[in-house]
Amino acid sequence: MVSVEEGIRLVKINLPNSTYERIYLSTALNKVLSQDVISKINMPPFHQSSMDGYAVNFSDEIKSYKLVGEIAAGGSASEFDLRQGEAVRIFTGAKVPKGTNTVIQQEIVHRKEKTISFTEPVQVGKNIRLKGEQTIIGQIAMNKGDRITPAAIGFLAGLGITEVDVFKKPTLSIIATGDELVKPGDPLPEGKIYESNAIMLDAAIKQSGYECIKSITVEDTYGATKSAIENLLSSSDVILISGGISVGDYDFVGDALKEIGVKEIFYKVKQKPGKPLFFGSYNDKLVFALPGNPAAALSCFYIYVLTALEIISRKSDGLEIAQLKLIEGYSKKGGRAQFLKAKIEGDRVRVLEGQSSSMLHTFSESNGLVYVPENSTALEAGNIVSVYKLP
Ligand code: AMP
Ligand code: MG
Repeated sequence: MVSVEEGIRLVKINLPNSTYERIYLSTALNKVLSQDVISKINMPPFHQSSMDGYAVNFSDEIKSYKLVGEIAAGGSASEFDLRQGEAVRIFTGAKVPKGTNTVIQQEIVHRKEKTISFTEPVQVGKNIRLKGEQTIIGQIAMNKGDRITPAAIGFLAGLGITEVDVFKKPTLSIIATGDELVKPGDPLPEGKIYESNAIMLDAAIKQSGYECIKSITVEDTYGATKSAIENLLSSSDVILISGGISVGDYDFVGDALKEIGVKEIFYKVKQKPGKPLFFGSYNDKLVFALPGNPAAALSCFYIYVLTALEIISRKSDGLEIAQLKLIEGYSKKGGRAQFLKAKIEGDRVRVLEGQSSSMLHTFSESNGLVYVPENSTALEAGNIVSVYKLP
């Protein structure tokens, strides 16, 4: 049995090396660059008008300008080379022609047929986005380690980039064990319950941007448990097993893992909920056997599994921890550390009802888990506590 701190530390130091892949930019949201992105073009690629107005070869002495043509966005400017006293009609995004020293917004232009003059003082060098002002050809546009946000996708697409090198996200699969489990939607015979961990864990995986490629339910037999684990070990990077890891007569997960040769890194954590948590590895695959109790399974996912996923894919170190003031006191019983379903309200946090490891009702309303360390007993209103912020 390990402490929470030791368990988290053991997860962090027993992860496989991160791997890379080249993927389409359109599928790269939320991934992390494994290579710098070098710009192959200048951005903007040419001096560009930032206004609807007039590109002018301006001089203080000249008060009225001759219009010699028009350039719309996307149009060519090569036929123009403005001399002093000349101007072209121009629109936002259009290439500014040679000879332009300023663009005048149309709001301050007085136009009479092919002649324009200005109703306000004019400054040279205005309203032009300079070629390469965002990025220059050959320069680093984004750095290794940067997260690909929607803005980053837009920025890189604007540079004409279609593929990026990113850290691979681990793939997951889920095995829910239990003879008592019935698929939601089916009739519920006596003594049975609806299976809810697999769909919940799948949702938690998706919520953080990962993928569960296979999810199965198996009966409580040694054979079924072992062959399910063996099968999924070959097809995914991380296996989550729900239930069957306690000490009951029908808990076969521990024996099956041992027989298959999954190396135990820890089994059992001094925490509530989620004491019977197993973490192990098999070559470069990870196995988390989560307690069957739903709230325990989900807490363990957020605290241990997500930490592993985030570090492997270089996204973060796991959930953000905030230091917040307790709204109401809480008295902890027993010697285990606790993760309490809680609601963050501004800079304060409220511990919710229904803390049992089997209960999801208040978990569904919570946006944080208050961490109460092993050695702490009574917490009073106003005490500062560590809160894991849920995604
Ligand atoms: P176990 O860890 O297998 O002893 O299960 C502990 C408790 O969690 C029992 O009450 C189980 O019925 C319940 N449980 C186990 N697996 C699931 C599941 N997939 N969905 C809902 N409840 C479950
Ligand atoms: Mg069970």
